[in-house]
Amino acid sequence: MQRLIEGVHWFRREEFGRYQELFERLAREGQRPHTLFITCSDSRVLAELVTHSKPGDLFVVKNVGNIVAPFAAAGSANSTAAAIEFAIAVLGVSDIVVCGHTQCGAMEALLHGRAEIAGLPHLRAWLEVAAPVRGLIERNYAHLTDPQARLTAAAEENVLFALENLRGYPVVAQRLAVGAVRLHGWCFKIATAEMFAYEPKSNQFLLVTEMALPGTG
Ligand code: ZN
Repeated sequence: MQRLIEGVHWFRREEFGRYQELFERLAREGQRPHTLFITCSDSRVLAELVTHSKPGDLFVVKNVGNIVAPFAAAGSANSTAAAIEFAIAVLGVSDIVVCGHTQCGAMEALLHGRAEIAGLPHLRAWLEVAAPVRGLIERNYAHLTDPQARLTAAAEENVLFALENLRGYPVVAQRLAVGAVRLHGWCFKIATAEMFAYEPKSNQFLLVTEMALPGTG
């Protein structure tokens, strides 16, 4: 905790000056983020850092495994579903990114189960939302013998599962129909900080270069 407190002071002293005007304007005018960024709670995945974003740019939702539940299954107490509705209908974001990552502990628990989550009912139930991803990996990726490769495949399939579910949210579907929002599936490789984006044409995750990538619609 002492580290956090020292960090707060360091930021105010050393960094805040660079952002002061921006923070003041954001406080005065409110936020108008361009992107809803849904990613994993994993401490190694920092949306703003790896996209070089500033305060006010991203509306970030972090949850265990960057899972988006199907609209019908989200229930009335699903904070990710609430954030999706808010970001689309109130903030009017133009883009939604779902960003998974390599070495995701949530994907590992989803694929293999873990003794340590056996007695954790909320966590188990949350991961079960992505059970279709487990089924897909078992059916279509049996040829992958490298456990890390299977984990990456699960992270990617989980991103596509989330995008599919997003399309089922009425607020998203309405804006997709008029071209007012674009969906993007990304996967972050922790060891190299490389970002891969889903390209529907090749049905693959391709390294993000400086070329603009179209959304998946
Ligand atoms: Zn994760």
